[in-house]
Amino acid sequence: MPTYRELLQRVKGEIAEVDARGAQDLDGAIFVDVRERDEWEEGHLPGAVHVSRGNLESRIEGVAPDREQPVVLYCAVGARSAFAAKTLTELGYENVTSLAGGFTDWKRNGYEVVLPRSLSPEKRTRYSRHLLIPEIGEAGQLKLLDSRVLLIGAGGLGSPASLYLAAAGVGRIGIVDADIVDETNLQRQIVHSLDTLGSPKVDSAQRTIAALNPDVEVRTYRERLTSENVDRILDEGWDVIVDGADNFPTRYLVNDASVWHDIPVVHGSIYRFEGQVTVFKPGDGPCYRCLFPEPPPAELAPSCAEGGVLGVLPGIIGSLQTSEALKLAVGIGDPLIGRLLLFDALTTEFSEVRVQRNPDCPVCGEDPTITEYVDYVGFCAR
Ligand SMILES: [Zn+2]
Repeated sequence: MPTYRELLQRVKGEIAEVDARGAQDLDGAIFVDVRERDEWEEGHLPGAVHVSRGNLESRIEGVAPDREQPVVLYCAVGARSAFAAKTLTELGYENVTSLAGGFTDWKRNGYEVVLPRSLSPEKRTRYSRHLLIPEIGEAGQLKLLDSRVLLIGAGGLGSPASLYLAAAGVGRIGIVDADIVDETNLQRQIVHSLDTLGSPKVDSAQRTIAALNPDVEVRTYRERLTSENVDRILDEGWDVIVDGADNFPTRYLVNDASVWHDIPVVHGSIYRFEGQVTVFKPGDGPCYRCLFPEPPPAELAPSCAEGGVLGVLPGIIGSLQTSEALKLAVGIGDPLIGRLLLFDALTTEFSEVRVQRNPDCPVCGEDPTITEYVDYVGFCAR
């Protein structure tokens, strides 16, 4: 039986090693850190990915699907990575090297290292179901905690959106709404409750969010979005806007402002049993005015305050909007850009319509005719 030392010597004879300087000259190589998580968190090579030795066989194809791509494995001093290199060679990787001297030598030579941020143990527990999804993981959760989402409206659509954004750990949520919570809201606006009847909706929502997740900073704007305040509010820096407005003037204002501020908008609307969702991402797909250049005449627009709606419908549509907002914040998946998703609760049917950018769009087209905010009036009493 060989001793550990003898085994290590034998393995090192069978694999290729590279020193810190040589490793930097390897073109297109992927650096894989095979140490334990706590070692990785104390610092690692720039651009490296972490796959601990124990998970190497099962996870390597996920991070390096191409077996011809050069792979540099490293650990603390170059022993664990030597064994790891042998394993990858056996798995058919053709270009595997082990970093001689490991992270210790790399650092000693003065090469750049990354000291990554990481989640506290409390946050690891709270967001554990996100951490378990490879597409999100710790990096994605840190992105969410750094992200800023602006909600237009704390009503039917804004209710589920504010709750799920807060639960997901979106770091800052802005809420714009001038209304007061009343009894007719409680049939669907689940962020509010009997306790907050008569309170401003922004305060009611803030209270619910604070009780749900103290990691979230809530900025409240108890005002109706107008041409006067839209720049001030959008200038505070938002990654995504979730539009839960129930009226045309606000919808057009949000659209024009988002194009000029270059902020993606997750649009949602509901009426009786039907809802729709899409994503307007400036420069990458249509805007609202590409679809509807001008608002309908006031007498044809459904009256917002009187529009009936199945109570759960905003829950469904607002949740879909939140899903899109979270994807945009983390940078994963295929958002609903250029796709209008329609839902009919009576037949339980989803359908999708392709929507195109309009080169003649008055706002995002080649020759825009609208270059200032328009305050449309007369659609709704509120
Ligand atoms: Zn447009």
